[in-house]
Amino acid sequence: MKNKVILITGATSGIGKATAFKFGQAGAKVVVSGRRQSEGQSVVEAIKAEGGEAIFVRADVTIEDDVKALVSKTVETYGRLDVAFNNAGVEHVAPISEVTRGDYQRLFDINVWGVTNSMQHEIAAMQKTGGGSIINTSSIGGHVGMAGLSIYIASKHAVEGLTKTTALEYAKEGIRVNAVAPGAIDTDMVTRFAGEEGSEMRAGLASMHPVGRMGRDTEIADAVLFLASDAASFITGTSLKVDGGFLAQ
Ligand code: NAP
Repeated sequence: MKNKVILITGATSGIGKATAFKFGQAGAKVVVSGRRQSEGQSVVEAIKAEGGEAIFVRADVTIEDDVKALVSKTVETYGRLDVAFNNAGVEHVAPISEVTRGDYQRLFDINVWGVTNSMQHEIAAMQKTGGGSIINTSSIGGHVGMAGLSIYIASKHAVEGLTKTTALEYAKEGIRVNAVAPGAIDTDMVTRFAGEEGSEMRAGLASMHPVGRMGRDTEIADAVLFLASDAASFITGTSLKVDGGFLAQ
């Protein structure tokens, strides 16, 4: 990853933040993005404190001008875009009977349009330098249904579909497009969903994985690093399950 340029959305916490650190340690130039300025800036400072190279660019993935400016700033600062990790996403916990049009619009705007719009601008930048690698954050919920998570599951199935289709559209141009599908990972999202350490719901999330625990954000970062690297040069249009065996059941 030495001197490769990576852009990460949703890098102000959780999986995106851990991936930003991982790429910073691997020698990449990291563009950290999200809506929270101070969290993003502290990720950048931490990468720099370890001798890495990073900048923060504030962007809301639902706003096309923000995403356009994010990609432009990346190219203006580092000259190119090699890897994009489209990871920004939010959860929504409700059975289908309780979902409102507003819930649906907000969730699909962030989780699906955010990925679509990000890929559009990233691909345009990658075409100028002959290729690149895109990784979208899906979920185990992009592969199976889960009661009570109706539109979140639907949004991650959409990410899977977008990933496969975009991989096919750009395969001949040297742009690989893959997804990573995490099981339950102990981040702020799980805390919002399942409460603090020791809660019954957390224990339930741990036990649903054959390995008997939730995943760590760094375990997803390792998978993203692999998919971004030349070691994955023949891999496109796939979804790498990083789920402690959940989907094997
Ligand atoms: P997290 O800590 O809550 O991180 C979510 C990230 O998304 C934050 O950095 C947030 O940044 C960003 N974000 C949300 N809305 C945004 C918007 N409109 N524009 C730009 N950025 C936005 O949760 P996480 O677990 O790391 O989640 C990361 C991804 O993994 C999500 O796509 C999630 O669906 C997926 N995932 C998580 C799990 C899990 O168990 N944790 C499992 C499977 C998949 P700002 O608030 O600063 O904007």
